Amino acid sequence: MTAKKNLIVIGNGMVGHKFLELMIRSGATQYWNLITFCEEPRVAYDRVNLSGYFSGKTAADLSLVEPGLYHW
Ligand SMILES: Cc1cc2nc3c(=O)[nH]c(=O)nc-3n(C[C@H](O)[C@H](O)[C@H](O)COP(=O)(O)OP(=O)(O)OC[C@H]3O[C@@H](n4cnc5c(N)ncnc54)[C@H](O)[C@@H]3O)c2cc1C
Repeated sequence: MTAKKNLIVIGNGMVGHKFLELMIRSGATQYWNLITFCEEPRVAYDRVNLSGYFSGKTAADLSLVEPGLYHW
């Protein structure tokens, strides 16, 4: 069995997250170590609905990352 290669996604915004989600759901983690990091102190969130933060939505409500999908 060949060693897994590293695939690094710089930025965990809406696009980077969607890419990772599709990779994970397609089983790509069998072949790849998926690594991401971003400038902000939290995982991907719904920027389109960001203004909802001012009307009571929490960071958890806006998160796009299903709990357990990533390990960090
Ligand atoms: C209030 C608001 C409303 C919006 N409404 C709409 C809408 O109705 N319809 C629509 O189509 N679009 C809307 N947008 C735009 C939409 O959110 C963006 O088009 C979308 O988020 C772009 O996704 P992205 O993954 O390319 O970038 P982003 O979501 O901006 O993600 C960029 C990622 O890169 C990281 N990053 C940046 N610099 C560095 C660095 N130097 N090192 C490491 N990481 C870095 C950031 O931390 C972030 O994780 C809205 C945006 C906002 C803010």
